[in-house]
Amino acid sequence: MQQHNDWLPDYRVTNYKVKPGDTLYLIAKRFKTHISAIKKINKLKSNILFVGQYLKIPPTLPDGIYVIGSTGPSVKKLQEVLSFIGFDVNNDGYYGPVTSKIIKGLQQKFPEIVIDDGVYGPKTKKIIDNLLSVNYEIVRNPESRTVLVNKLNALNPDYVPKNLIVPEIPFSFTEFRPQKLMRADAANALEALFAKAKQEGIELNAISGYRSYEYQHKLFSRNIKANPKANLFSSRPGESEHQTGLAIDISSPSVDNRLVQSLGETKEGKWLEANAPEFGFIIRFPKEKENITRYRYEPWHIRYVGKDVAKRIMDNNLTLEEYLGKVNN
Ligand SMILES: [Zn+2]
Repeated sequence: MQQHNDWLPDYRVTNYKVKPGDTLYLIAKRFKTHISAIKKINKLKSNILFVGQYLKIPPTLPDGIYVIGSTGPSVKKLQEVLSFIGFDVNNDGYYGPVTSKIIKGLQQKFPEIVIDDGVYGPKTKKIIDNLLSVNYEIVRNPESRTVLVNKLNALNPDYVPKNLIVPEIPFSFTEFRPQKLMRADAANALEALFAKAKQEGIELNAISGYRSYEYQHKLFSRNIKANPKANLFSSRPGESEHQTGLAIDISSPSVDNRLVQSLGETKEGKWLEANAPEFGFIIRFPKEKENITRYRYEPWHIRYVGKDVAKRIMDNNLTLEEYLGKVNN
C-alpha cells in the first residue's frame, strides 16, 4: 500500500495561467470542474487568485456510454478521474474488468439512483461528479488504527482487513456470522473491556462488528428503500468503519440488546462511555456532534483507535474528525 505522503496520482495535469478577471468560479465553469477540486489539487487555502499564477486543472468526466471492451481517450479521461479520487487503476484507455469493477462499486453506493451493472453512462457520470464536488476520497491508509472512514473518505470495495478473528465475548446470537469478526488488535482490547464489565456486574452483548462492502451494500439498499433519509443512520457501502474491523456495536439486555439511543441513559451505556477509552475505544458518534460526524448519536457504536488517542478524544469531548483536523462541512 502506498503511503499517504508520497502518493502521487497517475493522471495528466492541465496547467492554466490565471488571467485578469479570472475567479475560481469562472475557471471551474470553463473547465467543467468544481471549485473544491481545483482548491484540492492546488492545495489552495483561500479563493484568492493572482494574475499569472499557474493552476492545475483536475481531470473531468467524459460524456457517453462505456462498457467492458470500450477503448479510447474518453475511457482514459474517466480513468484519470478514478485515479484522482484514489482508485488503483491504469490510465490505459481500456475499459476492462478493473475499471468496470470500480464503476460497479461506485454505483452500489447509490442504489436509489442507478443500477450496479458496471456500465458508465449519464447517471453514473452524475453520481461521480457529485463525489468530485465534495472531494470524495478513497482512503490510502486503511490499516492505520486512526484511519478516517466516513461519508467523504471511503474504503475500497475489495478492502478486507488482515487478521480478522472472533473475540471471545458474549454476542446477542450464538451461530457464526462474519459480523462476529474484528481485527485482532481490536478484538484483544474488546475482550479486556468485556472482562472488566463482567467484573463490575455490567452485562454487555456484542451485536455487530466487521461488515464487508457487499454486506454494507445489502444493508444500505434495504434501508434506503424503506426510508429515503436512511443515510443519517446507515452508511453507503465503503463509508462504514465497520469495514475496518475496528468498530463494533454493543448493547445490553437492559434495552433488549437493541441499538437504541436510550442505551446511553442506562447504567450499561454510561459504563461503556466511561470505560471505553481505557481500552482504546471511543464513542464514535457522540451527542451533539451530528454536524461533524454526519450521523446521529450512537451510544452503541465503539471504535478502536488505541489507548492514547482514545483518551485524548474522549477527555476533550472530540470526534475522530476533530482529532485528525479533518472537519469538512
Ligand atoms: Zn456501528
